Order: sequence, then C-alpha cells, then structure tokens
Amino acid sequence: MWFFSEEQKMLQESVRAFAKSELLPKIEKLDEEEGFNRESFKKMGELGLLGITVPEEFGGTAMGAVAATIAMEEMGAIDASTTLSYLAHTILCVNQISNNGSTEQKNKYLPKLMSGEHIGGMGMSEPGAGSDALGMTTKAEKKGSGYTLTGTKTWITNGPIGDVFYVYAKTGSDKRNLSTFMVERGMEGFSTGKKFKKMGMRASPTGELVFEGCELSEAHRVGPENGSVKAMMKNLDIERITISGISLGCARGAIECATQYAKERKQFGKPIGAFQQIQERLTEASAWYEACRALTYNSAKMWDEGLMVGREASMMAAKAKLQSAQMATQVALDAIQILGGYGYTREFPVERFMRDAKLMEIGAGTNEILRVIIARHMLGEVADL
Ligand SMILES: Cc1cc2nc3c(=O)[nH]c(=O)nc-3n(C[C@H](O)[C@H](O)[C@H](O)COP(=O)(O)OP(=O)(O)OC[C@H]3O[C@@H](n4cnc5c(N)ncnc54)[C@H](O)[C@@H]3O)c2cc1C
Repeated sequence: MWFFSEEQKMLQESVRAFAKSELLPKIEKLDEEEGFNRESFKKMGELGLLGITVPEEFGGTAMGAVAATIAMEEMGAIDASTTLSYLAHTILCVNQISNNGSTEQKNKYLPKLMSGEHIGGMGMSEPGAGSDALGMTTKAEKKGSGYTLTGTKTWITNGPIGDVFYVYAKTGSDKRNLSTFMVERGMEGFSTGKKFKKMGMRASPTGELVFEGCELSEAHRVGPENGSVKAMMKNLDIERITISGISLGCARGAIECATQYAKERKQFGKPIGAFQQIQERLTEASAWYEACRALTYNSAKMWDEGLMVGREASMMAAKAKLQSAQMATQVALDAIQILGGYGYTREFPVERFMRDAKLMEIGAGTNEILRVIIARHMLGEVADL
C-alpha cells in the first residue's frame, strides 16, 4: 500500500521470509494431521509479532492494526490456519489484556504470551450463543471475595492447546451484565473439552472450554464487574479488520498459484492462460483482491489514526471483512477451476486455501451478521422494524 511506512515495509519483508522458512515446510503435514505449529510461536515472539499492538512500556512493539494486518496477510498467504491461531492469541487475548487489564495483570500474563512460551485464546461463543453473543449463559457467581465460574464455551481457537484464556461471563441478570476473567490451564474446575475436526483451518486447534465450579479470585477479573460489553464489541472491530488480512493472504496465495499454472499448463497446443475464459477468472480475481486490500488497509489505517470511532468503526470493519472473506472464498474456488483436476487434489495448495478461506465467512461474525451491522448504520431504526 502506498501509505506503508518504512517500518511497515520492513515488517512485511521479514514476515514474508518467516512464513516461507518456518510455516511453508510444515503446513501440509499439519493440515493433514490437524496439528499445531507451536515452535513457530516462539519465533514470532522473537520477531516481536506477538505483542504487535501492545505498548512498548509493557514489552510490546506497538505497531498497530496496519502492522497486524500485514502480518496476517503475509502469513495467511502461506499458512492461514497457523495465522488464525496467531490472530486468536495476539488480537483476541494479548490485545485485550493490554487494553483492559490492570498493571498487575499485564505484568503477570503478557511477558510469557509475547515470548510465545504461553499460547492465548478468547472465550465468547457458546453452544447456544454464537451470533447472539450477549445471549451467553456462562456465569460467574459471587462467592466470598471471588467468583465461581460455570458454563461451556465452544469453537474456541487454541482451546485444546492454549495456556491462558480471556473469558466472558454473565455476572448479573441483564444480558449486558458481562464481565471478563483470566482463566489458566490447570485451574481446578476448568478443562478443555472436545477438539473439533474441521474442514479447513486444520492447523489451528479449535475446541471447548468447560467450567465446572471453577474458583476465581478478584485478581482474575479484568476491568469492572458488569463492564465488559463495550470492550468486547470494540475488540470485535479490530478482529474483523485484521482477520481480513488472512482472507487477503489466502486470495493472494491462490492467485499466485493459478497465474503460474496458467502460464505453464498447455492444452490445445498453448498455455491455458491464452484462453480468454481463464484470463477472465484471473483478472477478476486480481481486481477484487486489490479492491479488498485497499478497503482493509484503509480501515486499519483509519483505526490506527483514530479516525473512526464507535458505530462507524464497526461499520467499516464489517465492510472490510464481509468483502474480503467472500472474495477469498470465490478467488480460491476460481483458482481450483483454473487448475482443473490438479486443483481438486492436494498436490497444490489451492484446495487448502478454499477450505481455510471459508472460515472467514463464519468466524468473527458471519456474513449475515456483518450485513445486519452495515444495514443498521445505513438505515438506522428502519433496519430493525
Ligand atoms: C474455526 C472457528 C474458530 C472460532 N474461534 C472462536 C474463538 O476463538 N472464540 C470465540 O468466542 N468464538 C469462536 N468461533 C465462533 C464463531 O465466532 C461463531 O461460529 C460465529 O459467531 C457464528 O456463530 P454460530 O456458529 O453459533 O452460528 P449461528 O449464530 O447459530 O448462525 C447460524 C446461521 O444463522 C445465521 N444467522 C444468525 N443470526 C442471524 C440474523 N440475525 N440474521 C440473519 N442470519 C442470522 C448465521 O449467519 C448463520 O448463517 C469460532 C468458530 C469457528 C468455526
């Protein structure tokens, strides 16, 4: 992008090199076996990627949303699922502790999370509360000076392998009575339930967090009691902007693969890239990718500059994610078509890009929910009649 600073360009180069050397050699096997590239997190820590939004006074690199989106795109172009785990760790857990935690909580949790020694995650969704996140039923009941946490979170990225979780729970009868708690692996009454088998994002472990009378002290609560709704919603905005980087990465990876193939594969005596129908798919894909790239990085830049707040930020983030996610799925499908039979096999990465890209139309707010957010912004009360 024309506005990337020298620092952001250097980041782009170093993450691109990191993705090639550390992610590319492992992703095929991890995708096949549904594993997790834990070693890569230690290296991300050394590169300063795990505290990318954390102020320097707490040991982060404070590079912001544009930088985080660059990291997502560069890693996503090689291995979208490790990148999804990176997003959950860095944006859903680390960024939230950094924004809302006390000094003691930041000093306690951030160093190990930013070095990659600990893996983080965030628990919002539940079996009965996905799109309707405020309909959650996990509750933290007052007990003496602390709380007892009961309930189940589901589809939690890094759930099966994570060490520290940023968990939302009800602390009152109103649906906006939400509080946040830090929960650590090994605590009594906390277990990580089943791990899901998935169609894509297979090197990003997804599972349940189960709380059965898990005892927490006041020190585990992040921010004021019943005061978490705003922070939760605000973080969904930066999540939607930065996760769009993963969509951009999947699309770019698919376009690069299909373009190369179209130059090399010959049918009827010439490269298939000479056929106008193949050119149409490639050119439309490339143009849509560029449009989404401009929208996504513009939103990230506006976020960093503080140029959008409240509902406007939610609307821009929703637009960026809605378009990027749909674009990535369609572009990956087109790449499969361009590769013909090979596209449908695991000889080439395009089928993996398609399986991974589809998640971005569901996680962090489905396409339908994003359209609801945009419609409310455009139509006001009329949208909810
Ligand atoms: C791989 C993966 C990783 C995830 N990681 C995390 C994580 O780390 N932390 C976390 O908390 N959650 C996580 N999630 C959960 C994710 O955010 C939810 O799956 C998502 O919000 C959708 O919720 P749901 O699956 O319950 O679908 P539902 O809400 O049940 O929706 C089902 C369908 O109904 C549609 N729908 C629902 N409401 C409306 C409406 N008002 N108007 C129109 N259509 C509607 C939806 O768009 C969808 O098509 C993850 C999910 C996946 C698959």
